[in-house]
This record gives sequence, structure tokens and C-alpha cells, in this order.
Amino acid sequence: MSTSPPNKSHKILLLFIFSFLVLLALAGFGYAILRQAPAEVDSRPPLAVPDVAVTQQVYTPPRVVVEAKSEKPVLPVGLPLAKLGVVCNVPHDPEKRVALTFDDGPSLSMTPEYLKILRDKGVHATFFLIGSQVEREPSLAALIANDGNEIGNHTYSHLNLKKASLADAASNILEGQKAIEQDAHQELSLLRPPGGELNEPVIHEIQKMGYTVVLWNIDPQDWRENATSSQIINNVMTNLWPGSIILLHEGKAPTLKALPQLIDDITRRGYKIGTVSELLSKPSRPVSPPDKPTTETPPAGPTNVTTEAPPAGGV
Ligand SMILES: [Zn+2]
Repeated sequence: MSTSPPNKSHKILLLFIFSFLVLLALAGFGYAILRQAPAEVDSRPPLAVPDVAVTQQVYTPPRVVVEAKSEKPVLPVGLPLAKLGVVCNVPHDPEKRVALTFDDGPSLSMTPEYLKILRDKGVHATFFLIGSQVEREPSLAALIANDGNEIGNHTYSHLNLKKASLADAASNILEGQKAIEQDAHQELSLLRPPGGELNEPVIHEIQKMGYTVVLWNIDPQDWRENATSSQIINNVMTNLWPGSIILLHEGKAPTLKALPQLIDDITRRGYKIGTVSELLSKPSRPVSPPDKPTTETPPAGPTNVTTEAPPAGGV
């Protein structure tokens, strides 16, 4: 039986169809493989296109240590300060003592350096601290106290007590007291109003809280932006008198620079440097005459030695 031509043609046709199907299947398989293949990894660095929204979300500003701004201190005008029991100095101090006072601390950057100078020179000072600053750097008030220095209250937030209501003034003073005493472990009895801002009702309110209000009688203007150490020293030395209370500030580079020579010059002239409370206390031993008797007349009562008009913008 011979193979008929149609049968051969069928075989060829079937083979062709089979081959076509196989090719089709391979093509489909290849396509599927290609679709599942991972995309080529782009190793190039991403374009530096600023994304404002993202930048704002992830940006963390650097920590800025803000030192308290020193006030433009002005002694209250028109108030009978001595009669009201406000201390500006202790006139005619028989022991020829003066007090260095530092406002607006503690200062993270400079308080340890101030303390080292006082320690090296063997003198103590009075620091009027701000409660909120004490909370921010809690170890510094203890450092000040542990060195034998005196600590006073300068309110919690450097509040202008004259502008505030009596209730707010009292609350701010009390808050400052708690913050300072908690760290310094020293009972506070002295208060210096920020900027020297006072009126009679505020004075009475502070005194009702058990405080002695302390101002100053020598202001060498270390709060000025352009203060220099030599000006600070000259200003103090030309106005020094037994019983003087000298207003200085923490966190001031010119003040820090002036301090060693200032202490040397004061003691070289025969003065003793002590705290405000020591100045206020009565002498415990017989009074010796001043080392260098003078015929000059001391200033009559509290004096603000500021000789220049304060800058308009304040500090
Ligand atoms: Zn102040």
C-alpha cells in the first residue's frame, strides 16, 4: 500500500502547525519571562532636586543657647528708696566693704569661669539668678552656692515688675524662688528687680514675701554692646566708696576679662569684697579706721553713676 500524496501533505501540514504552535509557545514564554524580569537598577545618585516640603519636615534647627538679655538698668526715679527699705548701698561702711553682684545668670558658657576667678582670688559675690535659666542648666546654681557665694532672686522670667500686675509679679517671683532654691539649696532673702523696675506697691509686695530689695549704686555699664573691660574697671574704681554695691552681669566677655584686675584693684585700695548680706550685717568686731583716710565726702545716698545716656534701643 503506497502512501497517497494527500497523506504526505497532511503530515507536512501537521508538522508545520506543530512547529508554529511550539514557536508560539516559546514566544509567549519568553514574553512572560521578560515581563517578570527585574527592572534595571539605576545606580546613579538621585538628582539633587530640592523638595521644599520634605526639607521643612526633616530640618531640625541647631540648639541655640540664648543667654538672657541684660536689661538697661535704671535706678527708680522719684522714689524715697532708703525710706522704703530698698538697698542701693551701705553708706559709711566702717569695714570698708563693697559687694560685687552679678545679674542674669546662670550662664552655661561663662558661670564656671566667673566662679574660678572668684575662687582664685578668694572672694565671694552675690548672684541674682533667673529661675528659668536655673531650670535650663540646673547644675550651675549649685556650683555657685557650693563655692560660698550668695544667691538672690531675679524673678523666674526676667519680668518687668513695674509693668506687671501685683499678682503676676508675686507669682513670677515665687516661681523663680522655687526653681532657684530647688537647685541651689540656699534660702533666698534678697531680690533684685530686673532692670531696676520698681514702684511703691511692687516694693511693698516684694517685702511682704520676705525679701530685701537690692539695687546698686555703681553701674559700670557692662550691659552695653560695646562695653570694654578697661571701661568697666575705670568706671568702678572712680566711683568706689565703702559700702558700694556694684552691678555686673553674667555671660559678658568684657566683664569676665575685667574681673581679675577689678578684684585686684579693689583690694589693693584697701577694700574688702563680700556678699550683699555681709555688707548689710553689722560689724562683728571693733571697727578699724579705713586704710586710707580721706577728706572727701561720700555721695549723699544712692547714686547712679551712669554718666552717659543709655542707648535708645536698650539691651
Ligand atoms: Zn537682669
